[in-house]
Amino acid sequence: MFDFMDLEFNDAQQSESSGFYIPEASECMRCGQCVSGCPTFRLFQIHEETPRSRLRTISKILVEDSPVSPEELKHLNNCVQCRACETSCPSKMAYGQLFDAAQAKLQTPLNSLAKMAFYFIEHKNHRAWLMPFLKGYLKSGLQNPLRRSGIFEKFNLANAENLLTEPALKPLFEIYPTNRIRRGNVALFTGCIAEHFDRETLEAAIKLLNANGFNVQIPKQQSCCGAIHQHNGQSATHLIENNLAVFNSLNVDAVIHVATGCGAMLSEYESESFKKRLFDIHEFLLANWSDDLKLESSNLKVAVHEPCSGRNVLKNQQSVYALLQKIPDLNVVALADNHICCGSGGRYMLTHPENAAQLRELKQQIIHDAKVDLVVSSNFGCVLHLNSNHTTVLHPLVLLAGRLI
Ligand code: SF4
Ligand code: SF4
Repeated sequence: MFDFMDLEFNDAQQSESSGFYIPEASECMRCGQCVSGCPTFRLFQIHEETPRSRLRTISKILVEDSPVSPEELKHLNNCVQCRACETSCPSKMAYGQLFDAAQAKLQTPLNSLAKMAFYFIEHKNHRAWLMPFLKGYLKSGLQNPLRRSGIFEKFNLANAENLLTEPALKPLFEIYPTNRIRRGNVALFTGCIAEHFDRETLEAAIKLLNANGFNVQIPKQQSCCGAIHQHNGQSATHLIENNLAVFNSLNVDAVIHVATGCGAMLSEYESESFKKRLFDIHEFLLANWSDDLKLESSNLKVAVHEPCSGRNVLKNQQSVYALLQKIPDLNVVALADNHICCGSGGRYMLTHPENAAQLRELKQQIIHDAKVDLVVSSNFGCVLHLNSNHTTVLHPLVLLAGRLI
């Protein structure tokens, strides 16, 4: 049995100089409540793969300034950053914030592939130039022979290449006016890669907002939310400042995000004026659904996969269920084990492909057992990670928009 009570934890972990709060041994009650919901503990069943053990390592990095062994670092970095531990901790440890701060202090050098990925996340124009080449590659018939040649494994690109889907090339318009009686103006946060790789969801969002009487504005100057940077020890300040300047200058009633991963990051920007107008699309649509807007009925059975960013940070997962009830006769069920991460975890599926694949397998078994027609998830990363030949996973907005009469 896992003996959580025996773990050692040093005294006073609060450092005035560091400014980071790490509960003292007396405050961490060693209750172990954070353990069972931790996906890596579920995989490895050892105490080094628990939130509690990671907090010990984080304390060494942030407060004690003492050396951390490669083994401790490996276990720390195995964290999926799902933040499930925050929701179960009676001492209210801000695990996500502590993890990010530890990564920022560690400043682990990026390999050339990661540097390239961060470059394209930051540089929208260069990203747009890359897309026709990716599309050309996918249509060229070279994919299978190149995969067989082993070249992607050689350059450590196999996992990223596996996730490639055909990118949309045409940029979105800056404004999508409603053709209903206008009820307001909103701005849509599109993030970094969704405009190319999750166009279907963004178009569904625009359709639903327009159908409910809202003009939709998509400011070109917006940038990535900064989550991937922040969770990997890179500064996200320039991205955050840019988004605050862009969205705070708009004359709109709301700023709307459609992916919970981005939404979680945006909801933690330190700007009250920005957060006051920030909405998750499901909550916004629920609050502003036009009485005369009807959807076509469906007899499908749909399971809701709850992304960790929605469940553990935004804590608004119920809005997806409520919104799907707008489709008459739709049978909506929760996926069992929704409190356990699917393993997508931002770039975790690329950096820790084996762990991510094992967590996906567990989730896919649950999906299989649920005997549903399809699964919905409001985070693009989870959709990408969970979709397979046997499982159709969609953003709930795509299902809703497809039923507009
Ligand atoms: S964030 Fe998730 S993976 Fe990381 S320690 Fe907490 S529960 Fe475990
Ligand atoms: S849930 Fe919080 S208080 Fe309990 S063992 Fe985990 S870190 Fe400590």
